[in-house]
Amino acid sequence: MPTTVVTGGAGFLGSHLCDYLLEKGHKVICIDNLCTGRMANVEHLAKNDNFLFLHSDVSGFIQVDGPVDYILHFASPASPIDYLKLPIQTLKVGSLGTHNALGLAKAKGARFLLASTSEVYGDPAVHPQTEDYWGHVNPIGPRGVYDEAKRFAEAITMAYHRTHGIETRIVRIFNTYGPRMRIDDGRALPSFLSQMLKGEDITVFGDGQQTRSFCFVSDLVNGIYRLLMSDEIEPVNIGNPEEISIQDFAKELKELTGSCSKIVHRPLPVDDPKVRRPDITKAKACLGWEPVVSRREGLTKTIAYFRGELGLS
Ligand code: UDP
Repeated sequence: MPTTVVTGGAGFLGSHLCDYLLEKGHKVICIDNLCTGRMANVEHLAKNDNFLFLHSDVSGFIQVDGPVDYILHFASPASPIDYLKLPIQTLKVGSLGTHNALGLAKAKGARFLLASTSEVYGDPAVHPQTEDYWGHVNPIGPRGVYDEAKRFAEAITMAYHRTHGIETRIVRIFNTYGPRMRIDDGRALPSFLSQMLKGEDITVFGDGQQTRSFCFVSDLVNGIYRLLMSDEIEPVNIGNPEEISIQDFAKELKELTGSCSKIVHRPLPVDDPKVRRPDITKAKACLGWEPVVSRREGLTKTIAYFRGELGLS
């Protein structure tokens, strides 16, 4: 039975990964400082003998007893309002936290997988984004704290691979949604749904013509597991290439929720990417992976979850 450490395991993606790994027969050690993660995301695992929760900040030191086979480094604030509120913690977990997690991988002889992001492409000048695009990031803008932390994390991951021969994998995660997103995490989907379900105005930033491509969490977790078990050292995009403008996304959600809320426009945040869509040619070729959940199906499940969170179901 392999032992797998998931840093940030009580977060949105981390907790779905814990579930998936347990289903695949792993023993899971979840480490989280609960800065943006929540115990509620993993409390259903509390009685599982193969699950251990450690309340700890990976930017300090990571203490794990016994053998470890895999480390999935997912700890980090990940929504724009979270990392704008926690800029130094975001830089620390991307740099010091990644260093510590790689150090643990070296000490244990474990395979390491880094949760990187489409934000390494910044406001992209190449569309859709392929893994060989180096990106267009403003290092000193407010978003730079996340983008540069993840770019550094990729660099140190490759350095540990090249210098110490650690087995490493890097996933570049595009916008993902599903149950367990925090309703107040400020991202488009939770904000819009909470506004619609409460009958408030829907705040579309800018003219709403900027685009994103939304992947349902079960597809993402499946892609990450395939990458973990593959031989691919260099970064792989995992995301759903179906692109939509934020204005149309708000309208689609309005239709699905039957909401009467009206769309209002607010200023576009600084350095907000104008377009984003993954090129998943590499994931298809190397991992035999592509998303299977349609946006309508994924959104229906997510709306049901948020209704429950707001006590409306
Ligand atoms: N956005 C919006 N209204 C909101 C929250 C977000 O119009 O209440 C926009 C945001 O400006 C961006 C897109 O939705 O263009 C996706 O934002 P999100 O925070 O979900 O993630 P990002 O892809 O920017 O990291």
